[in-house]
Amino acid sequence: MKEAAQSRIRVQVAVQTPAHSGIAEPLTYMAPHPLPAGALVRVPLGQREVLGVVWGEAAQAPEGATLRDVTAVLEGLPPLSAGWRDLVAFAARYYQRAIGEVALAGLPPQLRELGAEQLARRLARKAKTSPTVAEGDVPRAPTPEQAAVLAELRAGDAGAFLLHGSTGSGKTEVYLQTVAELLAADPEAQALVMVPEINLTPQLEARFVARFAPVYGAGAVVSMHSGLTNPQRLGSWLAAHLGRARIVLGTRMAIFASLPKLALIVVDEEHDPSYKQQEGARYSARDLAVWRGRREGARVLLGSATPSLESWWGSRPPSDGDAGGRYRRLAMPSRVGAGALPTVRLVDMNLQPPRTRLSAGLMDAIAQRVARGEQSMLLLNRRGYAPVLACSACEWKSECPHCSAYRVFHKIDRSLRCHHCGFAERVPRACPTCGNLDIAPVGRGTERLEEELAELLAGVRRPEAQGRGPVRIARIDADSTRLEGALSRQLAQVHDGAVDVLVGTQMIAKGHDFRRVTLVAAINPDGALFSSDFRAPERLFSLLMQSGGRAGRDSAWLAAQGSRAEMWIQTFHPQHPLFAALRRHDYAAFAEQQLEERRAASLPPFAFQALLRADARTQEAAQAFLTAASAAVDDLPEAAAVQRYPAVPLAIQRVANVERAQMLVESESRMALQRLLAHWHPRLHALRRSPEGQGIIRWLVDVDPQSI
Ligand code: ADP
Ligand code: ZN
Ligand code: ZN
Repeated sequence: MKEAAQSRIRVQVAVQTPAHSGIAEPLTYMAPHPLPAGALVRVPLGQREVLGVVWGEAAQAPEGATLRDVTAVLEGLPPLSAGWRDLVAFAARYYQRAIGEVALAGLPPQLRELGAEQLARRLARKAKTSPTVAEGDVPRAPTPEQAAVLAELRAGDAGAFLLHGSTGSGKTEVYLQTVAELLAADPEAQALVMVPEINLTPQLEARFVARFAPVYGAGAVVSMHSGLTNPQRLGSWLAAHLGRARIVLGTRMAIFASLPKLALIVVDEEHDPSYKQQEGARYSARDLAVWRGRREGARVLLGSATPSLESWWGSRPPSDGDAGGRYRRLAMPSRVGAGALPTVRLVDMNLQPPRTRLSAGLMDAIAQRVARGEQSMLLLNRRGYAPVLACSACEWKSECPHCSAYRVFHKIDRSLRCHHCGFAERVPRACPTCGNLDIAPVGRGTERLEEELAELLAGVRRPEAQGRGPVRIARIDADSTRLEGALSRQLAQVHDGAVDVLVGTQMIAKGHDFRRVTLVAAINPDGALFSSDFRAPERLFSLLMQSGGRAGRDSAWLAAQGSRAEMWIQTFHPQHPLFAALRRHDYAAFAEQQLEERRAASLPPFAFQALLRADARTQEAAQAFLTAASAAVDDLPEAAAVQRYPAVPLAIQRVANVERAQMLVESESRMALQRLLAHWHPRLHALRRSPEGQGIIRWLVDVDPQSI
């Protein structure tokens, strides 16, 4: 007995410690026998027993500590691989979080609750087979551009590639065939395919299942996203971890999937901001994909019609005195089937009658399309009826009492809703300040656009072939899709041709392969032209290009209709260079111009940024904390190479009665920035506990922030 006690060994275990504890490293426990790194265990933490991941043997016990015992080992599960642990450790270090937090967030929640016995039962259960796929999906003969890209992917060594392919150039087919080749070449190989929002792309999932289930069985394709139930997530995770799943489709969270035989990572629409996590560890799944690919010797394929400027710069070809980017650039400039990209028409709103919201030319174009049985899509990036309600007699506006923002008027349920804190009330009958009955909506959102369209198109009829009824208008935005399954129902209606005019926010601009849309219109995109965020033009360009990409995707049908694909843009700034590049579908020219500006201003990708943010009851307290934080690293050698800007309020400075401030930190050296952040972390924890930290509700670091 005594000998057994002496042979006990110390192990390090990554557990989820509370964020405010400031503990970044795994904790030390005692185990009765050596445990392999990556093994899943249950250990005591405070009063609780929690799930942990063995991180390695501990050389030394912390001084004077009495170590507690590992309670149980989850048998039957192979340990998490060294590659996975390296990914977690890298993400934790790079994004300034605790290893345990990142590790545990990367595991399915249900794993935390299962005892050893329950898990054994779960493992024994036969993998549930999804409904058999009636129709397989056979590979298409690649177009010449697809063939060239596939050949390069095949020939090239592992590494990262940027596939710059026009909307409708057939990127999905390239993903499918690349996956197919890798899986065929190695009976164990696994592929990870990430999309920005899996809810928006049920089509993609269906295509992967249709293509691969007939070959590898129904369990070969699993998905991972926040729409799954906990048991489903566990099921997908186990399938991937045990190597049963050959393909994992998922949103950004899937980057942490355990894939022991990972051979390929595809990041579709790699420019999409939703690859950046906006809470907890604020990681970029796209950037981690590149890191993980390199670590695992797997190919990484980033795809987009409008790559992020970081990736575009990162894939520049070598030139004199420049070794070029780290990624290899692949191009598919043409649409499949000789389809043309839509003609871009700019409507100069300065030339329209005053207060015109929908120009006559645009309305005519839509009416003609309805009459021919074609679909149109109108984009307005603002939901609700009107962004503000205002009194005509006094200064009253529908401000949120808890935020520095207006509450949005929703006519459907006659409510005023704050889109930041959720505070909602019924619309008052009279002005709360002066009693005036005339309070009116100012500006306009998708609800109002839908209403105006219905009036303007009231006389228009669908063609005989479609029953000659009145025009059918649908709206898709975060409000219309609140109910479970609503979005897929609404999208199915569009695909089935049950909708003539679709109104929506950017939700409808991404990825959908609508076959009958021949006109896309951006109603009021000007706001982004003059935003203070340096990424706003990039975002706008990509949004417009993506939305335009929804028009005229079926060239044969388009020709049979005798129609043309058009993208309409209503703007007060038709001379803006962004629109000139858009008209020519010239992403490269736009990117070059933007990169020049970024270089001149030392902005990403020519510099690296992080934000330090503090939330407090008062703006002064929040800013004082940041200022003190800045002073706390003055003595570091890296401080000279890292610029720290003054603390400023966030654009929306108060949300739910919390004042928010931020400080931008910037360096031309990623290494210097990382070193500074690493030293900063413990000092920030200490500062939080000092008098300056007393008024602080929370603080956080956002590395490579996507909006500033
Ligand atoms: P992207 O993702 O680049 O916008 P998709 O992959 O959705 O484009 O392809 C556009 C359309 O072209 C789809 O309907 C797809 O089925 C079709 N397509 C793709 N590749 C081929 C091919 N080689 N032959 C015939 N049709 C193709
Ligand atoms: Zn009033
Ligand atoms: Zn609010």
